[in-house]
Amino acid sequence: MSQGKTAKGTAIKQIEMRRCVVCRQVRHKSELLRVVKSNGEISFDETGKAPGRGAYVCKSSICAASLKKRRNLDKIFKIRLPNEFYDKICAAVE
Ligand SMILES: [Zn+2]
Repeated sequence: MSQGKTAKGTAIKQIEMRRCVVCRQVRHKSELLRVVKSNGEISFDETGKAPGRGAYVCKSSICAASLKKRRNLDKIFKIRLPNEFYDKICAAVE
């Protein structure tokens, strides 16, 4: 994590730190995969800008595997996600 960067001419944006729902570590958004629920649909948010309720998980196979095992997203989004969705997360972080 690099701090103290100067952003000449641009307003320094609020540091976008988010917490991984699996390991609870706070990381920069770029190190996390965002999963978003919008209109009842759960999907990956590649841009980080999609509206809706978001959950973050580290782009790490360890967190993805434990996410799949613990099915954290089911609880967060109060929805039963198919195994394939968790598989997709595992594949996405590899
Ligand atoms: Zn994590």
